Amino acid sequence: MLAVTDVAKSYRTGPRSRLSGLRAPRTVLHGATFELGRAETLAIVGESGSGKSTLGRIALGDLAADGGQVLYHGNTLASLDRVGRLAYRRNVQAIFQDASAALNPRRTVGESVETPLRHTLRMDRLAARRRAEELLDSVGLDGAEMSRRFPFELSGGQRQRAVIARALALDPEVIVADEPVSALDAAVRGVILSLLADLQSRLGVSYLFISHDLGLVRSFAHRVVVMHHGRIVEQGPVERVFDDPKEDYTRRLLAATPRMAIDPAEAGLDRTQGIAQL
Ligand code: ADP
Ligand code: MG
Repeated sequence: MLAVTDVAKSYRTGPRSRLSGLRAPRTVLHGATFELGRAETLAIVGESGSGKSTLGRIALGDLAADGGQVLYHGNTLASLDRVGRLAYRRNVQAIFQDASAALNPRRTVGESVETPLRHTLRMDRLAARRRAEELLDSVGLDGAEMSRRFPFELSGGQRQRAVIARALALDPEVIVADEPVSALDAAVRGVILSLLADLQSRLGVSYLFISHDLGLVRSFAHRVVVMHHGRIVEQGPVERVFDDPKEDYTRRLLAATPRMAIDPAEAGLDRTQGIAQL
């Protein structure tokens, strides 16, 4: 569905040339290739600075690659016309670590969720309000109540739920989730991940799940891509990569990670009860 082939990226952050005054390019992605299937969760793991977020932004179409291609249903992003690009923006949504930054502090949560419904789907005010409440309900928030609140009146977990509700507003096929639970308390992380897993089984959405937390990835993702200094050193199903890593770097990364996989089911987290409080 979404394929990234041989994607390369450099930033001009190297030493300045004495002749031109321009900074030399520093390559942060050296040709990354992977595919994301329907209703699949593909994790990108690696140390800080390994290029995960850059790769995510390129897959999202937010950042242009210097080389290689992003293909969506077989068409390169570069070849899409205006309509195709708009469709891509609808179908590929993003959530990030910082839910506070993702919501407009001067708008109620309801208004933030209504915005894409009104502007992109052209719903009228009343229909958008109803749909926003449904979407908030679907992520375990009390839509009628929460839609009237401002972001600062929500807990971190509730804010990330609201951001997820907004990302779902346009019924996307893919959500690029860049460290979506890293800013949350450990107790809330598992709950948000089980919400995401539950949404995946209900809606068939795919996740490109970027995380430096291998414990989370093991319990949450189907397949994993391991990045090191801008290169994919290994990829495969999580069980295979975690239990039988082929590359030295993967082994070192695993050895450096405390084995504390959070399994939402094992942790006994109920998806339906009391989650709105977290
Ligand atoms: P990760 O998400 O794995 O921590 P990033 O993709 O954020 O890695 O960063 C990869 C490398 O690219 C890092 O060395 C980082 O400093 C650099 N980098 C990221 N964004 C920019 C930018 N906008 N300008 C210059 N360098 C950047
Ligand atoms: Mg990052």
